[in-house]
Parts: sequence; structure tokens; C-alpha cells
Amino acid sequence: MGRRKRTSFGDVATSRAAFERGEARCANCRRPIGPGDQPTFVRGMNGSEPRLATMRCGRCSALLTLHFNEDEPATTA
Ligand SMILES: [Zn+2]
Repeated sequence: MGRRKRTSFGDVATSRAAFERGEARCANCRRPIGPGDQPTFVRGMNGSEPRLATMRCGRCSALLTLHFNEDEPATTA
């Protein structure tokens, strides 16, 4: 296990609604994350609702990829 500080990565599975409510959490440090953390939404091909977003955790600086599952209840990884 290295002790050097380096960028972490994480995948977060949530729903758009749960994310808007601030219920999603950083996969690395478990800090609550939400729209205030300036996510970059990745739009779908045909202008559909974004299913993906990328953002950086405000606490641990991990690069997070958010996966929005609109049709399923939020899952906690
Ligand atoms: Zn974090």
C-alpha cells in the first residue's frame, strides 16, 4: 500500500433524484455529494437526460463518475 497522495477514482451508482437530494456519497471517502459540487453532466446522443456525470469530490479530490439509474431505486455500492 503506497502512502503517496494520489488521485483516487470512484464510481457512484445513484439516481438523478437521489443525487439532487444530496443522498449520493463519494465512493472513496463517503462524503455526501450533490449538485453543489459542480458535476459535469454527459448528455445522451439524442438530447436525452444525462445518464452520466463526472465530478471531483470536495473532500478527497477523488474523480467520481456518477451513473444515474432512473428506472431503479438508488443502490449503495
Ligand atoms: Zn471523497
